[in-house]
Amino acid sequence: MTVLQDRQGRTFPYLRLSVTDLCNFRCNYCLPDGCQDHHHGDALSLPEIRRLVTAFAHLGSEKIRLTGGEPSLRRDFTDIIHTIKSVPSIRKVAVTTNGYKLPQRIEGWLDAGLDALNLSIDSLDPRTFQSITGHDRLQEILTGMQKAFDRGLSGVKVNAVLMRGLNDGDLDRYLDWVKAQPVSVRFIELMETGDHRAFFQQHHVSGHVIREQLEARGWTEVTRLADAGPAREFCHPDYQGRIGLIMPYSPDFCRQCNRLRVSATGQLQLCLFADGGYDLRPLLQSDDDMGALIADIRKQLNFKQEGHFLDQGYTGTTRQLAQIGG
Ligand code: SAM
Repeated sequence: MTVLQDRQGRTFPYLRLSVTDLCNFRCNYCLPDGCQDHHHGDALSLPEIRRLVTAFAHLGSEKIRLTGGEPSLRRDFTDIIHTIKSVPSIRKVAVTTNGYKLPQRIEGWLDAGLDALNLSIDSLDPRTFQSITGHDRLQEILTGMQKAFDRGLSGVKVNAVLMRGLNDGDLDRYLDWVKAQPVSVRFIELMETGDHRAFFQQHHVSGHVIREQLEARGWTEVTRLADAGPAREFCHPDYQGRIGLIMPYSPDFCRQCNRLRVSATGQLQLCLFADGGYDLRPLLQSDDDMGALIADIRKQLNFKQEGHFLDQGYTGTTRQLAQIGG
């Protein structure tokens, strides 16, 4: 096994794999009109996913995060988890989900080998949650999360997109919540995508605002692990949970990049905000192409840019993150 490295010396133990573009929520910052398409289109099949993950495992990837769209809309989602977990040297399978029908689904996912769960919960107030996501399902998601805890899952994280005027005053509510919950809540700065500039300008707020509030309340930053995501995490001795900040607009954000992305149709994306992707699918059709697939992925790494240039208003080809595996 060799390690995948780019020209900046960054290594990539972490792959984010989208398994569908389809989503059933209508989050105002992502898909406010819902998904117009109602089938999984040309998403990668189970054998294609197995070959893809095997190639990344050969290149040193140990952690695979399944995302979308809403990944749990795939009927074979449990099989996807099981297939990936069975690939030698894959240590960790994680999912980022909106938690739809989680109480009914979590047991099957854990039995299949799921190691970590990221839930998107943009507000702990049911009315605000509904106004952001278009769904009155907060309680269902929390019940599912509790089931995961009851089964002993320790890797539970919550994502909340930080938005001015919508949830930027909610820190204390989240703090009360994590006092007795061993969960990490991560505030993600709203990112500008290609078709929602006005929404971005109205609602973007820097994560530094939360950082200052945390520090004023006695929270301190913890040291990052090698395979950690992009969050800067804070802890407090009186709280079981943690608070994280994902701040893509801060100058050193890309220096710590350790993940690559593959879209639901097999496009390798070197950056969330890259101009398009590189089609790996032709080499996912047969086990005989494994050598060529590995060589192709390695070659593409030479083209990974140093940064995303988001701070200069550059959004690449993104429309909604749900459609490229955000
Ligand atoms: N459907 C799943 C979910 O809801 O978690 C997975 C896909 S969703 C695109 C992945 C993550 O991206 C979610 O936590 C979502 O809140 C976040 N996201 C989507 N659009 C975003 C944006 N414009 N800025 C920041 N985060 C965004």
